[in-house]
Amino acid sequence: MKTLLKTESIVKRYGAILVTDKVSLDVREGELHAVIGPNGAGKTTLINQLSGELRSDSGRIEFGSEDVTALGINSRARMGLVRSYQITSVFDEFTVLENATLAALGARTHAFKLWGHLLGERAARDAAEEGIVLAGLQHRTVSLASSLGYGERRQLELAMALAARPKFLLLDEPMAGMSVQESGAVVDLLRSLKRKYTILLVEHDMNAVFALADRISVLVYGRLMVTGTPEEIKGNAEVRATYLGEEEIS
Ligand code: ATP
Repeated sequence: MKTLLKTESIVKRYGAILVTDKVSLDVREGELHAVIGPNGAGKTTLINQLSGELRSDSGRIEFGSEDVTALGINSRARMGLVRSYQITSVFDEFTVLENATLAALGARTHAFKLWGHLLGERAARDAAEEGIVLAGLQHRTVSLASSLGYGERRQLELAMALAARPKFLLLDEPMAGMSVQESGAVVDLLRSLKRKYTILLVEHDMNAVFALADRISVLVYGRLMVTGTPEEIKGNAEVRATYLGEEEIS
């Protein structure tokens, strides 16, 4: 399988703290790659470096065959590297469809630019509707965002990311704060998105991670300890000793 995203020795420091310590990672096209690790390991920081929200202090990031190290979040999003959750704000007074359409227009992907203004809006609306269906929120299309429950709001954020027609989705703890039922629904949803998109998933819910991931990378104190299949990670003595021992995997 072809590598879609590759980091070479990326570093992020906050003062004296090395939060990302020479991380070299590759994510293959079509795979669901999970990043796990204890609190404060640097997972969110890594996602921010990949999305372009944060500049790395050193190292290199390639997306497709392009060096995107110097590009910001909008340029990377236009190339299809999209972070769900907080990439675009949800407007409470707008409907689900309006929010997703704005996200599609905001992404201003190459495809939309080629169309004229009106056709561009039509295409954005189509992309928004597609994102809403993919995120399983079609029954709420005309509901105001303010009326959504917590889980549905997270689904809307995912719909908005999907409306941007990404190739690669960066997901930071999509199950955080959800009930068991809601988490189960997100696992089903991510299973349905698997292969259609390349996905990097940061998640503390180990049952979800082990059910979904093709490969798992373990981050500890900013350092990449190991990357492997779920079976390899489960069987890794160092991972068990430093991290998984505390977690329950059924
Ligand atoms: P969690 O699992 O709890 O979400 P994480 O693995 O995502 O944690 P990060 O949020 O990336 O970890 O934080 C990694 C470390 O970097 C932590 O020690 C955190 O305090 C520190 N850190 C993060 N952002 C900043 C910042 N803007 N300034 C200073 N230190 C920061």
